Amino acid sequence: MEEIRPQVVTAVEEAQQEAAALAPLYIAGTLLAAGAVSAPLALLVAGAFVGLAANGLLISALMDFAFGYYRRARLLDVPETDARALGLAKLLTYVATETNDTARLAVHVGSVVEPDIAGYERVVTLPACGRCILLSGRLYRYSTGFLRHPRCDCSMRPITSEQWREGGSSRSPQALFGSMTRAQQDKAFGRGEAAAIRAGADIGRVVNARRAGQVYVAGGHEFTREAITSRGIGRQLGALARNGGRYRRSQVPRPTAAQLVNALGDDQIELVQQLRRFGYIRHDEAIPA
Ligand SMILES: [Zn+2]
Repeated sequence: MEEIRPQVVTAVEEAQQEAAALAPLYIAGTLLAAGAVSAPLALLVAGAFVGLAANGLLISALMDFAFGYYRRARLLDVPETDARALGLAKLLTYVATETNDTARLAVHVGSVVEPDIAGYERVVTLPACGRCILLSGRLYRYSTGFLRHPRCDCSMRPITSEQWREGGSSRSPQALFGSMTRAQQDKAFGRGEAAAIRAGADIGRVVNARRAGQVYVAGGHEFTREAITSRGIGRQLGALARNGGRYRRSQVPRPTAAQLVNALGDDQIELVQQLRRFGYIRHDEAIPA
């Protein structure tokens, strides 16, 4: 595995160079399409984006981390094939992440020097995870860093001041969700959550309620997402209903949409009612056919 190290470093650096060099062309294209006329205040130097990871580490040092995984695995007597797979997986993650980071960073920097650009819009490429889909089409000022996770391939589209006032134009999370296959929806959000969204639940609420390790309370009982069974949550909801208790978000975190679906999926009317009660849906029109 060591023998491919120099090639990998070179490949990443070449990808960085290409990604950075493309940024000004991309920006110019978007500005042209938007009818903007101002010239940039400065030009982007693609070479400056080469050789460093987004966190400031040398690309070569970053790649050493990947090889470190391989070496440690071998020391622990992990079979050669498995150790290699582990190291390569890390390597691919670093390569993809750094290449995408460079591309975004270059667009970011290249846009800062354009007087006509007010900010950027997050552009999500499918397939994507639920968190990214939730941010699709959102507008950010350039003072805002790009939210991303390892291997995230979301990109940013420069937005002119005029487009900013219009509120952007690309796909909303809901539109993006609607364009996905059922399998893609299930994979991005989880089966229960995807079903809840199909039933009319708000994507933002579904995703935010899934924060790892979140503990919430319903019906006066505290439980974690994994611990509760369908039967259990049915009882919680029953108790809440008997109490005539209106759910108040300020008081308790809420059950995930997945739990509601798991507990109530067979009863669409009840499901819609509970999804609305816990703030997952907000329109009366959201009652599924
Ligand atoms: Zn993502």
